[in-house]
Amino acid sequence: MTPDLQLSTVPPQAGASAPAEVPSPASAPMPAGNVLDGIGNTPLIRVDGVWVKLEYLNPSGSIKARIAKYIVERAEAEGLLRPGDTIVEASSGNTGNALAMVAAVKGYSMLVVMPKGMSSERLAISKAFGADVELVGDFHVNEALARARELGQRPGYFAPAQFESEWNVEENRTWLGPEILAQLPAGTVPDALVMGIGTGGTLIGVGQAFRNVNPAVRLVGVEPDESCTILCGESGKHQVEGIADGFVPGIIERHRGLIDELTSVSSQDSLAVMRRLARGHGLFVGPSSGAHYMAAVALAEREPGLRTIVTVFCDEGEKYLSEHFRAAQDQ
Ligand code: PMP
Repeated sequence: MTPDLQLSTVPPQAGASAPAEVPSPASAPMPAGNVLDGIGNTPLIRVDGVWVKLEYLNPSGSIKARIAKYIVERAEAEGLLRPGDTIVEASSGNTGNALAMVAAVKGYSMLVVMPKGMSSERLAISKAFGADVELVGDFHVNEALARARELGQRPGYFAPAQFESEWNVEENRTWLGPEILAQLPAGTVPDALVMGIGTGGTLIGVGQAFRNVNPAVRLVGVEPDESCTILCGESGKHQVEGIADGFVPGIIERHRGLIDELTSVSSQDSLAVMRRLARGHGLFVGPSSGAHYMAAVALAEREPGLRTIVTVFCDEGEKYLSEHFRAAQDQ
């Protein structure tokens, strides 16, 4: 008989209340979790009338922790990713950080192909998780994408291909979307979803989940004025990192018909709103959250009939310290 079993069979002493629910070491081993268990279950809060999902609180500091975990585990299950393989992804930052975290937990090598000109924090974070980072192209992701696609076809590599993958949409439809729906007050369904388009996975996937409960839900995509690629066919430099990567992603090409409206906001306004969110609400988030919030508030003002408007704060302000928060003029 092992000491553990002896412990679990010691009868309670007379008069003492029996610790019936206290598990013995033998019957309940210590939970062997890892940081990936911390992904999801982020708060949904109301900020001046708009519902905001705080995805920046995920491990690795962004919404992308979800697709990183989901796609990697799908690829493992389908035999597309095996021990010893290298995961390669083109990313302007957050997906690279998130995949690097997942790779560190699961023991894969990770190569992030990233355009130059992204926030130095996001490059440093991928490296901190042990990833290699290759800088290809300038600001927009196009060239990095071609490089990742080429490497992904080689033996020993797996390319999640976030801009194309239906698994990206599927994660949002089956995980993030239903999670938001469950957090809204009972009997409340979303009237609108306002979301910037990087891969388009969040807008489309969460949008599909919302359509299941409200077929009339308004799906509004957000782009920066300076690079409204889907809305007006232009791609320029802007400061809303994480959205408008310089091309129309495959996900949007396939699902464009689901989007009701595209709207654009300026980089400067997005940054101003981002700063106000930190000062006024204690929400230390990145530029796309400023853009999303501004577009959501504008929609609420324009159409008061849309009572339940949902948007997402995708990444944390810490990732932009050197770019937007550290200099004295930014305070
Ligand atoms: N905001 C930020 C900060 C992001 O990193 C991303 C993803 N690139 C988005 C918004 C847009 O998300 P999606 O890729 O699902 O369109």
